[in-house]
Amino acid sequence: MATNTFAPGLDATQGKSIEPLPKGSTIAVIGAGAFGGWASLFLLRNLYKVILIDAWGPGNSRSSSGDETRVIRSTYGANEFYFDLNVRALQLWKEHEERWKKSLFINKGVLWMCYEAHTPLVDDSMPYAHKHKTEYLKLTNKELHDRFKILNTDDLSHAYLDPFGGCLNARVSCQAVHQAFIEEGGAYVQDYVQPGLINNGRLTELKLLNGNTIKADAYLFACGSWLGRLFPDVLSNFITCTKQEVYYFGVPHKEATLYEGFPVWIDADGKDFYYGIPGNSFRGFKIGVDKRGEAFDPTDGDRTINEQVLQDARKFITHRFPGLANSPLIENRVCPYENSPDGNFLFDHHPEAKNVFFLGGGSGHGFKHGPSLGELVMNCLKGTSKIPGHFLLK
Ligand SMILES: Cc1cc2nc3c(=O)[nH]c(=O)nc-3n(C[C@H](O)[C@H](O)[C@H](O)COP(=O)(O)OP(=O)(O)OC[C@H]3O[C@@H](n4cnc5c(N)ncnc54)[C@H](O)[C@@H]3O)c2cc1C
Repeated sequence: MATNTFAPGLDATQGKSIEPLPKGSTIAVIGAGAFGGWASLFLLRNLYKVILIDAWGPGNSRSSSGDETRVIRSTYGANEFYFDLNVRALQLWKEHEERWKKSLFINKGVLWMCYEAHTPLVDDSMPYAHKHKTEYLKLTNKELHDRFKILNTDDLSHAYLDPFGGCLNARVSCQAVHQAFIEEGGAYVQDYVQPGLINNGRLTELKLLNGNTIKADAYLFACGSWLGRLFPDVLSNFITCTKQEVYYFGVPHKEATLYEGFPVWIDADGKDFYYGIPGNSFRGFKIGVDKRGEAFDPTDGDRTINEQVLQDARKFITHRFPGLANSPLIENRVCPYENSPDGNFLFDHHPEAKNVFFLGGGSGHGFKHGPSLGELVMNCLKGTSKIPGHFLLK
């Protein structure tokens, strides 16, 4: 759950137009995580033939999308582009959970805990919240203390409660998107892909580990943390992978409802950015560490936890939620962050092949944008939108 703010004033109209892909063209999408899954669905609905391929399955445990839950919030400091992208995403999440009769979005609200009177990460988003009529509720330190008895507010100035945010059932959502993709006529293959050779500015085929090949008119590589490995010449310095940890603590039985009912929370200290998702389909009180971990191999990397990172997280949670001082760690998970250099998403051509596109760089904050990004990708390939300038390879 990276709390990136990026540069303000990014303008999606300052982008790159691409030659539209004619309707009926075949597109191979590699990667069935939040980005590839949603992009496949939107492309399919817009009369493209889509073959989706994933090495280990949608929302698998190696992927970034494979955890129980992900935060959904519009707040991005002074960055209106991502605020708007999230507003559209939220609309699409709600439409689809209604359409599929599945619980994807849990509207728990998001509590931003602020240390200073002015917290740009939150305050600078206020004009956009106002524009979209999704205003936050400001809670003074006293109001915060009175309302949330389990919270230590001693070192906080105030908090904002964003009643429109919450969390998404992440792994379940990937599988729901995948199921819809199949039911709506998409084709799926489970195998590990190697890009074939680029000839005369075009990729001609994909090679699968089982020896088969797949030919398409265009190829969209939405391979999360693996992008840098698949295209080392172009992306090894652009998409880097780090080891990130989340912990699930057991809550005291007597106060379980206070903890389970607590909103999603983000500690806006400007340093470590601990955050948490209480509840989690009964998996425990989840705390995430947003600080970048060590470099990581998403295929074979060791997924046992780093004791120091756990100790630091426990220290923080004991301070912020004193009732959890002796709580048992009941589950933990290591997930890879697929970091771009500036935290912006990546969507662009391969510099040497006009029919190869990269989609990735979720950088610890991409999951929630899956549907709106998928829609944008479809519009760009159709030729009705430009690729936003800040998504391009630099
Ligand atoms: C700990 C953690 C917390 C996060 N918190 C949040 C949050 O709170 N809110 C939020 O919005 N975002 C959050 N994110 C970020 C978000 O989860 C990611 O940005 C998003 O899931 C990325 O999706 P993706 O589809 O690009 O990548 P992935 O989910 O990794 O999907 C890539 C897929 O490609 C497949 N693949 C890779 N290589 C190949 C190959 N060669 N052949 C075939 N298939 C291949 C993989 O199997 C995988 O399924 C968090 C991430 C982490 C790790």
